[in-house]
Amino acid sequence: MAEISEEPRFTLRVIIDEEKNKAVLAEADRDFVDVLFSLLTLPMGTIVRLLENHRQQEPVTVGCFSNLYKSVSDMSIENFETEACKQMLLNPRSVKEVECKRLKLNINPNDDLKHFKCPFFSRCNLCSNFSGSDCECGEEMNQEIELSEEDKASGSIQNDASGVFVSGRSSFIITDDLKVSIDCTGLVLNTLNRLGCSDVSKLGEQFLDLGLKEILSLFECMFTSSTPLTDTFLKKQNQDDVKKNTHKVLSPFVEVKTDVAEPEFTLDAIVRKQDMKILYLECGEEFVDLLFTFLAVPLESVLEISGKNSTYGCIGNLFGSFKELSVDSASKCVLPYYYKCQKQFSNIITTEEPPVYYRYRNSNPRQPNYSLTTDSDRTLLYRKDRLVSVTMIDPKSHGRDQSENGSGFVKRGTRFKVSDDLIITPRNSLNTSICFMKKLQVKADDIDVQVIRIRKAEVMSLLRASLVTSSALNTALWNLIAKKPKEET
Ligand SMILES: [Zn+2]
Repeated sequence: MAEISEEPRFTLRVIIDEEKNKAVLAEADRDFVDVLFSLLTLPMGTIVRLLENHRQQEPVTVGCFSNLYKSVSDMSIENFETEACKQMLLNPRSVKEVECKRLKLNINPNDDLKHFKCPFFSRCNLCSNFSGSDCECGEEMNQEIELSEEDKASGSIQNDASGVFVSGRSSFIITDDLKVSIDCTGLVLNTLNRLGCSDVSKLGEQFLDLGLKEILSLFECMFTSSTPLTDTFLKKQNQDDVKKNTHKVLSPFVEVKTDVAEPEFTLDAIVRKQDMKILYLECGEEFVDLLFTFLAVPLESVLEISGKNSTYGCIGNLFGSFKELSVDSASKCVLPYYYKCQKQFSNIITTEEPPVYYRYRNSNPRQPNYSLTTDSDRTLLYRKDRLVSVTMIDPKSHGRDQSENGSGFVKRGTRFKVSDDLIITPRNSLNTSICFMKKLQVKADDIDVQVIRIRKAEVMSLLRASLVTSSALNTALWNLIAKKPKEET
């Protein structure tokens, strides 16, 4: 944690309708807009963690993502394939971390990704990004190996003229519902007229001094309010005013042309006959892997996959502005290589290829034996026999069973129970379903088990529903449930 005194601060000039005590618009510089946009690049699990740490009194819920996060954190380590699995879900990494390092204020300063080897590195030539992974030789990979100076430097390009997500040096206008645009007179006049504030004599201004704490408060407010500038900075005293996210009715995604190669999941839906509501799902490890992967998906990708930005209020507005003003607007969700799971919907979520490293022996005896470099030419300069390629291992699997297709987070061969609001628990014994029926006060003949198939369209619906409701399963999957329970024959 940086010292408070050194923390970067921003000045936001806010034009206020003094009669209504309402923010009309704010004027900010590029650095602030970059920080605002960086919030969209954070993985969902990181958002849950940051907001939970930020506000300690009352729990902050980010749709069903908070429950997904809690399920990982509550689940015992024995239910995960390796220790790294739990770690990478509770502290998800993103491919945009390098960019975020260049921000004036990095909301989620992560340590650089480290590299670990086993004691027999010269023979195994394997490397892991997580300490304690099993090497093929059976030894633990816990000896850190450094990158070459050049590679370290390339990962932390310091300040340049072009900004991080937006280019140019102009100042920006931010509306109360978080539409961000380049400052121009026409736009300001339009906004004033639209809000009924054409009489500028009634307008005042206030200069806000914002640091990490204030920006996190604003971020938190975005999930519940449609006027976050006003609610965060002008009406601090009555937080109760803030509108809470209510259950939204979403239309399901229409089945996109089914690619035969696309995977699907077959699950048991436990349905209450009376109203055909899904009480919970019972499933194998691969579906849980998919749901847990949601924690690594950046907010911008959840919004992109979901399509209609209007559903998300001011977060949708911020995302729309991000896409308009951003220098690179990649529309695919790309995760670091180690999130690759066995069943991956590659046209929704893809993973990067692992980096290719070469090892070389350090000539300086005071340095560790080996270092890693990505530059094969550079290594050739030393001597040809020193060019040895190093393979990154999948930290989710154990040494000897590295598979081509990637593995998964949770223990193979386990059955799980997923509740409507995405609380996931391992289903260890018969006891669980009886407990559940008792808890919900339903009788065994009140419920029906239906086999359902989840494909791409349902995965997209689930991701979207997870952000806006606390009833993800019934919102996203209701059209898969037969309206009448099947009769016993
Ligand atoms: Zn080894």
